[in-house]
Parts: sequence; structure tokens; C-alpha cells
Amino acid sequence: MLIRSVDLPYVCGVKSVLPKTGKPEFVLAGRSNVGKSSFVNALLQRKSFARTSSTPGKTRTINFYAVNDAFFLVDLPGYGYAKTGPVEQEKWDRLIRRYLSEGEDIEEVILLLDSRRVPNEMDLQMFQWILAATGYEPIVIITKMDKLKRSQHAKAIKEIREKLGASKDCMMIPFSAETKSGREEFLELVDKILRE
Ligand code: GDP
Repeated sequence: MLIRSVDLPYVCGVKSVLPKTGKPEFVLAGRSNVGKSSFVNALLQRKSFARTSSTPGKTRTINFYAVNDAFFLVDLPGYGYAKTGPVEQEKWDRLIRRYLSEGEDIEEVILLLDSRRVPNEMDLQMFQWILAATGYEPIVIITKMDKLKRSQHAKAIKEIREKLGASKDCMMIPFSAETKSGREEFLELVDKILRE
């Protein structure tokens, strides 16, 4: 898939009413620092469209990226962000849960996990939330694959699958924002889903 146009028409805070886009939405969830912004930037071929952790003053928002006027990438705030207090966190959790269960245009939910880490409690909870809210397992993107030796790839993926308790059909795509490996595979999958 060629990225012909990217726009950011909706940026939502915790109190926002989420937009009705009327287009298929691919929702991105993941722990803070998992590499979600780098994934978005690599996909969209924009150096710093999504603000990465190194950007000062990064605020927590839900960003709706319109791609090729055909679909949206919906970037949820990273969870487990140390500076978010419990009251604020609870508000976000409620908004995200409601969106996942009631969002009318959600096509797929994508959970990003770090290749070098065993999924923690929050990751497991997010996997279960997605399953409960949408009725489907998310597509899992395993980030920062370039940080592992080739010989460790298969083992890392297997361990993540086991820890999640994911079915054998749960799709896992190894990805690196450094080498861009996995980018084409993901975009081809989006293309296929959009044509179905
Ligand atoms: P976010 O908080 O999930 O949006 O994470 P970021 O995209 O800001 O990434 C967090 C850190 O991991 C940054 O220092 C990135 O440069 C680094 N990072 C993200 N993706 C990759 C990757 O594929 N390979 C490597 N080596 N580093 C990455």
C-alpha cells in the first residue's frame, strides 16, 4: 500500500466526545514507551508526525490519523505512563473501554508489545479487554525486533504468545521502526482487510 496522504483531523482529550469518522478504524494500543509513535511514523513515512517519547511535553490524547482518505489509524494514549495519577488514569480507562466496546467504526484493534519484555499485568489486561470488548483477539505487533539477535526472534514471539494465552490464530507481526521490517506486511494486511 502506498501512503498518499496523511491528515490528523481529530485529537481528543479525556473529556472529548469521540468523533464518528464513518471510515474503518485501526486502533493502536500499547504500553507507554513500547514504540507506538515510532510505529506510526514508520508506517506513515513521517519523521515525527506522532510525537515520540523524546518529544518534550507529550500530552496524552487519542489521535485519529486519516490515511489516504480511506481509513483511520487511531492512536490511543500509552498505558502505564508513570506521570498519570490514578484519578486521571481511571478516566482514560473508562473512555478507552467505552470506545473499544461501542466504537461503531472499529475494524481491528492492534496491540503493540516490546520484543524484549515479557508482557506484564497491564498488557495481559489490555489483551483481555480487547477480546471482551470486540469479541476478537487483537493483531499483535512485536516492536523493536532489531534489538534482538536473529537467533532469538522465534523464541521471543513464542514466549509472548504463551504469556498472553493467545490462540494459534492470533496474528503476530514482528516489527522494527529502525529497519522498517514488518511495515509492508502490516500495510498489506490493512489493504486486505479493507478489500474484504
Ligand atoms: P511510545 O511511547 O510507545 O510512543 O514509544 P516511542 O515510539 O516514543 O519509542 C520509545 C523509545 O523506543 C524511543 O527512544 C524510540 O527511539 C525507541 N524505539 C521505538 N521503536 C524502536 C525500534 O523499532 N527499534 C529501536 N532500536 N528503538 C525503537
